[in-house]
Amino acid sequence: MEVKVVNLLDFDAEALTDWFVQQGEKPFRAKQVLRWVHRFGATDFEEMTDVAKSLRAKLATTACIAPPVPVRDSVSSDGTRKWLLDVGNANAVETVFIPETNRGTLCISSQAGCALDCAFCSTGKQGFNRNLSAAEIIGQLWLANRMLGANGDGERVISNVVMMGMGEPLANFDNVVSALKLMLDDNAYGLSRRRVTVSTSGIVPAMDRLRDACPTALAVSLHASNDALRDRLVPINQKYPLRELMAACQRYLVKAPRDFITFEYVMLDGVNDSDAHARELVSLVRDVPCKFNLIPFNPFPSSGFDRSPAPRIKRFAEILIDAGIVTTTRKTRGDDVDAACGQLAGQVQDKTRRTAARIIPIQGA
Ligand code: SAH
Ligand code: SF4
Repeated sequence: MEVKVVNLLDFDAEALTDWFVQQGEKPFRAKQVLRWVHRFGATDFEEMTDVAKSLRAKLATTACIAPPVPVRDSVSSDGTRKWLLDVGNANAVETVFIPETNRGTLCISSQAGCALDCAFCSTGKQGFNRNLSAAEIIGQLWLANRMLGANGDGERVISNVVMMGMGEPLANFDNVVSALKLMLDDNAYGLSRRRVTVSTSGIVPAMDRLRDACPTALAVSLHASNDALRDRLVPINQKYPLRELMAACQRYLVKAPRDFITFEYVMLDGVNDSDAHARELVSLVRDVPCKFNLIPFNPFPSSGFDRSPAPRIKRFAEILIDAGIVTTTRKTRGDDVDAACGQLAGQVQDKTRRTAARIIPIQGA
């Protein structure tokens, strides 16, 4: 009988416990193995010294620990580091580490490509290839920890995780939630819910599911102050318009670990950046406790958009601030390695799959 080899990175605590129990093992084995895999970055079962020898031998034939394979590792002059990960079939995704004075943020991808086709996004322009597995998602954190020299003694460089890489996390709901659970698990990465942020373009039913399954900090990509404009910039708005999105944000806050939603807003010259847009936003978000993060547009070839000039962004921010909304403007990091928001596109993508991608249903929708 052929024994199926499972990748242990695919399992969160509950799934690993079930798997051990199915094999006739004690449930606490899951906790032990989880610690070895995620806290200590083990890849070899022989390292797992508190696991019985017989079980180690059995695991060696039934399981593996297989993180994604980095095919490129680039470091920007500002310290931002980017890994290009091979996910098979000529697809690649990117993971970006952004060091700051008192924190280190890892930006993780959830899909190879994205089906949602936002007008200003380079990932969207490449079309959808496939969902990443739970192992490929958590594997990015596993790998980055290892590459950044974490040694398992609790001294970790990554203090925050943002699901803001390639793809729409809530369109790959189950795998993303498994990975989130591991990020929060004390036997794995032990991050607090406030330090893990999911960014969504606004898939309303999946926002409700996330609130119930694993509420983390939530960022919502708003980018427009009215439906006509958002329909054009963020096409999922045609399905879940602003009124529904604002209501979903309010519902999310009932269980969210932070008492505000972060609205992301890309600043596109002459498109969504006027004083009138800012004032319209103030009234749109009236009933949603929120902060704004303005993102200067990061250009890519033939995008058809330009970045708003700095004084325009400043004035836009002032209008929000004057209305009592905490507003920050994102610093562009990692430009010289194309690691800035919206520039993540992989390098070996297969553009011919674009048409097929459009009809792939979105999980959770
Ligand atoms: N799919 C999710 C998360 C990934 S994108 C989402 O859309 O929220 C992370 C952020 O970068 C989003 O707010 C996205 O709209 C923004 N973004 C995309 N392309 C960009 C670009 N070219 N310049 C600046 N920000 C961009
Ligand atoms: Fe997808 Fe987000 Fe890019 Fe829109 S902005 S195409 S949802 S990755």
